[in-house]
Amino acid sequence: MTQPRRIGILGGTFDPIHCGHLDAGRAAERTLNLTRVYVIPSNVPPHRRQTFASAFHRFAMTAMAVADHPNWRAADLELRNGGPSYTAHTLKEFHDRGYPPSELFFIIGADAFMDIATWRDYPKILDWTHFAVVSRPGHPAGALRYRLPALSTRMAHPPVEPMQEMDPLIILIDEPTADVSSTTIRERREQNLPLAGMVAPRVEQHITQHGLYSPNIPGRRRSDSPPDPAAGRLHGQS
Ligand code: ATP
Ligand code: MG
Repeated sequence: MTQPRRIGILGGTFDPIHCGHLDAGRAAERTLNLTRVYVIPSNVPPHRRQTFASAFHRFAMTAMAVADHPNWRAADLELRNGGPSYTAHTLKEFHDRGYPPSELFFIIGADAFMDIATWRDYPKILDWTHFAVVSRPGHPAGALRYRLPALSTRMAHPPVEPMQEMDPLIILIDEPTADVSSTTIRERREQNLPLAGMVAPRVEQHITQHGLYSPNIPGRRRSDSPPDPAAGRLHGQS
């Protein structure tokens, strides 16, 4: 008998991708026996609050971060669409490519899932994929039962064996993940502090080599150096 497909989808701005994202992906992969994980940086259109690194750099870092995970893929499908990224659209693309909701597991931190009611196509989106909600430091996944009581009937704790004919589940995965955020990383780079252990070594190297998130070229004072075009977004632009 062929093994069922179980596809993880890990989305985010990934500005930059860090060890907390990778821990969340690994926790879902292990807990749910995922056969593939797609890591999908989101597009931020010009009229929205801008990312700090360009879409090109965010994708490059994502590709480097998945390099050590043979079953993971960096996917550019949201970046190729010009407009804002909506998970609803992304899930439809997966459905159109032959992946039914029963095979999809959208991996998300418990902090982000708290806002699910504000997402496009809520509550229908709950029928379009399983959600694999992973704890983030300060945001235990188990607490969602009490914080989102209207959804508690759909929530389940591992081990779960979702059946094809069931409504998709909200699976609460209480595993530790690194206490790090992209915001902290950007702030540390601005102060020229090291990122050891917060991002994959290749990602750290890429950030340093291209001067991402630092107001100056490393080692020089701000007033000495113009913004580096290689760093993507020029500081001061929006
Ligand atoms: P920022 O500080 O810019 O908001 P972030 O670190 O929160 O960045 P996002 O790109 O906003 O990262 O998050 C993408 C997804 O990864 C979200 O579902 C978020 O909940 C999850 N996530 C981010 N950091 C962690 C972490 N340390 N542990 C578990 N999940 C995380
Ligand atoms: Mg965030």
